[in-house]
Amino acid sequence: MKLQSKLPALGTTIFSQMSQLAAEHQAINLSQGFPDFPSNPRLIELLAESARQGLNQYAPMPGVLALRQQIAALVQGCYQREVCADQQVTVTSGATEALFVAIQALVRAGDEVIVFDPAYDSYQPAVELAGGFTVHVPLLPPLYQVDWAQLEKQISKKTRLIIVNSPHNPTGAVFSHQDWLALQALVLKHRLYCISDEVYEHLVFDGQPQHSANQYPELADRTVIVSSFGKTFHVTGWKLGYAVAPVELTTEFRKIHQYVTFSSFTPAQHAIAQLLIEQPEEVKGLAAFYQQKRDQFSGALADSAWSLLPCRGSYFQLADYSAFSDLDDVAFCHWLTREHKVAAIPLSVFYRQPPSQRIIRFCFAKEPQTLTLATEILCQLSRLR
Ligand code: PMP
Ligand code: GLN
Repeated sequence: MKLQSKLPALGTTIFSQMSQLAAEHQAINLSQGFPDFPSNPRLIELLAESARQGLNQYAPMPGVLALRQQIAALVQGCYQREVCADQQVTVTSGATEALFVAIQALVRAGDEVIVFDPAYDSYQPAVELAGGFTVHVPLLPPLYQVDWAQLEKQISKKTRLIIVNSPHNPTGAVFSHQDWLALQALVLKHRLYCISDEVYEHLVFDGQPQHSANQYPELADRTVIVSSFGKTFHVTGWKLGYAVAPVELTTEFRKIHQYVTFSSFTPAQHAIAQLLIEQPEEVKGLAAFYQQKRDQFSGALADSAWSLLPCRGSYFQLADYSAFSDLDDVAFCHWLTREHKVAAIPLSVFYRQPPSQRIIRFCFAKEPQTLTLATEILCQLSRLR
């Protein structure tokens, strides 16, 4: 028997591949995006307390109400938008589940979905499983900005959905107020739906304002906004995220969510709800915390042959190595991991048709000593030629 694949072009994600290679070679893992430092110890206590108190059975399908109320409070506090915890907020098993469910809810067979190139890797397979097609619009380096006029030319009668991601993985680009207005105008004019992947929403640097689809009411009326507690509380392994959407979209979203996972890990929902009540200021410190890491990483490579691209948000730094190597980016990342014990992600994997360039992505969500060790190696090897 030969099973015909529904995703014939896909292999295992680059994040699994590179983390495995890093482990095999005992390399410093700056590839897959996750912190190497502990989360708030109070959060761990709260998780243990929740489990000890016996909060170990199924959570309500849309999520523990106390957590949904805290999510609504967070949206109100950050973006002054009132959302109904009961009817507009759904807790999911990571942002990954929220993205997948939102795409299944919105995309029908034959629909076109606009994504950017480069883009996070989970969007396209989810669109294809829903029977849709992705249309790829290039972001313009070095700032990886959107050319909105160019984008509008790609909108056809079949276009159903646009997926945006700001702060952006892998480039660290951040939408300006003008970008959000341009997006809103296009969504309204062409009656599109939008998924706004905002998992790095609190990681915006250099005093720039933190914008969200939540702040643009007419856009928000047609948008599923996705975020992740994995990013916000340094617990990517807890796989807890959420979707905020208008009532009508939430109703459709939950029809699918209830048969994908039904509900998500109960003790973690109680723990995060309680932490948000006890320490609501924790989220506000995130941007400064990660900006320091970005600055440590980029400062240490400033006098090397690496050329760093601007990073305005997220916890990723793009770096151009063309001054000292001719290898393509996939080969370069393998060589870097095997021979120099630092793992990174090649940028080309985030494109449908990668341009000819020599750029890789580093994750700087690491302890200062990890960044020191890694940047010493990176500086040295850039002098090899
Ligand atoms: N979207 C983007 C842009 C991401 O970088 C990630 C990776 N964490 C996700 C979604 C998935 O988030 P989660 O780990 O909460 O599933
Ligand atoms: N979002 C993480 C990254 O970009 C990876 C998540 C995953 O491994 N699926 O590195």
